[in-house]
Amino acid sequence: MPSLPPSMLPHQPGSGPNAELRMLRNLLMAGCVAVLVNALLELSHGRLSPWDRWAYPLITVVFACGAALLHWRPRWERLVRRVTVVTLNVYLGAALYLVLLAQQGPPDLYQLVSNLYWLPLTYGCAFIFLSRRDALIVSACMYVTLFGGIFWLLQHGVIDPGPVPLGVILSNVAIAQLIYVVLLLAISNLRLDYLRTRERAEWMQQIAASDPLTGLANRRALNERLVGSMALLERHGQPLSLLMLDIDDFKQINDEHGHASGDAVLVELAGLMSEQLRVSDQLGRWGGEEFLVLAASTPLEAALELAERIRSATQAYRFSHGRPVTVSIGVAQAVSGERPEQLVARADVALYEAKRLGRNQVRLHRMDAQPGPHADTR
Ligand code: GH3
Ligand code: MG
Ligand code: MG
Repeated sequence: MPSLPPSMLPHQPGSGPNAELRMLRNLLMAGCVAVLVNALLELSHGRLSPWDRWAYPLITVVFACGAALLHWRPRWERLVRRVTVVTLNVYLGAALYLVLLAQQGPPDLYQLVSNLYWLPLTYGCAFIFLSRRDALIVSACMYVTLFGGIFWLLQHGVIDPGPVPLGVILSNVAIAQLIYVVLLLAISNLRLDYLRTRERAEWMQQIAASDPLTGLANRRALNERLVGSMALLERHGQPLSLLMLDIDDFKQINDEHGHASGDAVLVELAGLMSEQLRVSDQLGRWGGEEFLVLAASTPLEAALELAERIRSATQAYRFSHGRPVTVSIGVAQAVSGERPEQLVARADVALYEAKRLGRNQVRLHRMDAQPGPHADTR
């Protein structure tokens, strides 16, 4: 894939790995808050179980440390993801077994219900924090460990169901949770499809905006940028100059050294010019052996200096085919009220003048000078 100047890359606010880390961090912090609120609620109603007195602070610490690590040590992300899933799964699984087994007689109904409705979090957490494959493995293990084990214990009379129809309740929960897992898998597949499609769209956008040989912005992208820069000139009076560059006697290079050498010259010249430009300047291939530079915030005199720098650097450069290469450059500064194609045409007039006067030189086009309304160069 050809590389594009940063200015050509599509900007996607809120997307990418950083956005995902931020989301995980926020989830972990929300988890801390949820655990603490739940703890306070149960404490105030005298419903805090003896094991939750220890488990809640522990989980809060694990989540808070995870969030802190994601913020300050993002390379520990993998560990944080795994520890989060393991912590939550072990806690919710163990808590359910404790509710069913820890006391003589039937389980405490409040503890049972509250455990059952928090349980689907284990699957959700696995699908958010782990890869789809790992999440599926973790969910399957969790599911079998929980329901396989509990039904076996019920069957063998180890768990006392008491007056509640525990078998039916747990069967319902088991079916519902199977559906959650299937839904999560479907959502995860959709997300994967979306990410692939977005990646492909970004790639296509790059292809559509770049020249395949040099990797520079192509004519379409240059036109878009030109329109944007001229709008800035109208709105904020920001000066804009345009350099149109053409390789001298390029046909001769092709004829004498072959088309491949001609291609190499184009690529080498693109690299050479890039080195002379500022980040805010936009370089692109206008077509054939012609290049365009949009020099942002650059008045005509500064653009002339830039053009002269490019011209002399080209002349001094040792191209791989072993022969010197020169370029002619036409320069024009945009004036208010001018259309983009008029600016390009004026730079072209200056370029033509540079060719006419013997090549390997820079010519300016001044809008206000004589003779003719748009044709004076120096
Ligand atoms: P001048 O100094 O007047 O600009 O002469 P020139 O020979 O550079 O200009 P002319 O327009 O006569 O020839 C341009 C040549 O550029 C002709 C075309 O085959 C060649 N060309 C255009 N695109 C490419 C390309 O991608 N690769 C190569 N190798 N050659 C190309
Ligand atoms: Mg040429
Ligand atoms: Mg040409």
